[in-house]
Amino acid sequence: MYILSVNSGSSSLKFQMYDMPEEKVLISGTFERIGLENSFYTIKLNGEKVRKEKNLENHEVAVNILIDELVDNKVINSLDEIAGVGHRIVHGGSKYSKSIVLDKNILDDISKLNELAPLHNPANISGVYAFMKKIPNAVQVGCFDTAFHQTLQEDKFRYAVPDLWYEKYGVRKYGFHGMSHKYVSERVMNIINKTKANVIVCHLGNGGSISAVKDGKCIDTTMGFTPNAGIVMGSRSGDIDYGIIPYIMKKTGMSITEVDNELNKKSGLLGISKVSSDSRDLDEKVKENHKPSILAYELYVNSIVGYIAKYYVELGGVDVLCFTAGIGENAPNIRKLIIDKLSCLGIKIDEEKNNECRFGKEGVISSTDSEVLVYVIPTDEEVVIARDTYSLI
Ligand code: ADP
Repeated sequence: MYILSVNSGSSSLKFQMYDMPEEKVLISGTFERIGLENSFYTIKLNGEKVRKEKNLENHEVAVNILIDELVDNKVINSLDEIAGVGHRIVHGGSKYSKSIVLDKNILDDISKLNELAPLHNPANISGVYAFMKKIPNAVQVGCFDTAFHQTLQEDKFRYAVPDLWYEKYGVRKYGFHGMSHKYVSERVMNIINKTKANVIVCHLGNGGSISAVKDGKCIDTTMGFTPNAGIVMGSRSGDIDYGIIPYIMKKTGMSITEVDNELNKKSGLLGISKVSSDSRDLDEKVKENHKPSILAYELYVNSIVGYIAKYYVELGGVDVLCFTAGIGENAPNIRKLIIDKLSCLGIKIDEEKNNECRFGKEGVISSTDSEVLVYVIPTDEEVVIARDTYSLI
């Protein structure tokens, strides 16, 4: 059965087409700069990547081209062969705790959550409409980034703020990167062949979050009402004392929108290093003994170690610690900085194995005498979408 896994952003659309249940990727691609000048798309088929410049006025145009490419490349003979399309939807609020088959009524209901994810949800939804129009016979499924964290109990998802903020305005922890945390925690439980285990997943990309997973259920996570909470990230601050915000507004005359922008786009590794939000650039600077870049890594590592320690206690001990996403999968230097700070919990690294696990290689990186297994697990959010879509069909 052919299933498309789709991630529509405000100016991009990424897709993979799977043959399910084998989970074989038949074709994949990315449409970029949708609605902007110099738009283009790339298609990957049989290990070959082709890039084409094309005017992509909106998502509908991109979807039409995508489907034409599937036919032209003989991946499908007719549109009816696509049984379903799974869509990443960033915010499902408190209501959507599982993936769901989408129709107009449900999309209207999801649109009510746009205020909670103004940059993402409207783009996700316009992607769904574009596919509904082009291939009306395919089942459309919504897969939410927040859903995996809906198992958090109230003592973990509430903030100690006036009750009305929660009751009337939905102020609570939602958590994000849910499909990645789900994929990695399920994958590692499969590897160790256990259905009961305490797992900590560190998703360290440009954005970053950590989650505590007990027997497959998420019990806590670092991102909160917004993705800015938790650990230090590429350009986001992570947790700060909220009192800084009115103070800086008064001192600088910046508006709340400007301060919000600085906390999202000009903080984190970029803000401290003044070099880049990308760890590869920082690595170069650290080699040159550039003090701000070294400090940026120190703050980054401290914030991660702090949450691992917290979740160790919340879970009542840990069986497996996992690293995933751009930095988690590819940066042994940062993994080592983190694990070396966890030795009091009996967590120890095998440096050789750590250095080997990069560029998509999965494996264990803890030493044989470590009390906790440490794994690198390359994440795969697309396959989670394809699996959920397949099982709903
Ligand atoms: P996102 O999906 O949140 O945009 P990614 O998961 O792609 O982010 O992660 C981006 C981060 O991963 C960047 O800091 C980048 O430096 C790092 N990264 C990606 N590839 C490598 C690599 N080969 N070596 C070291 N770091 C890498």
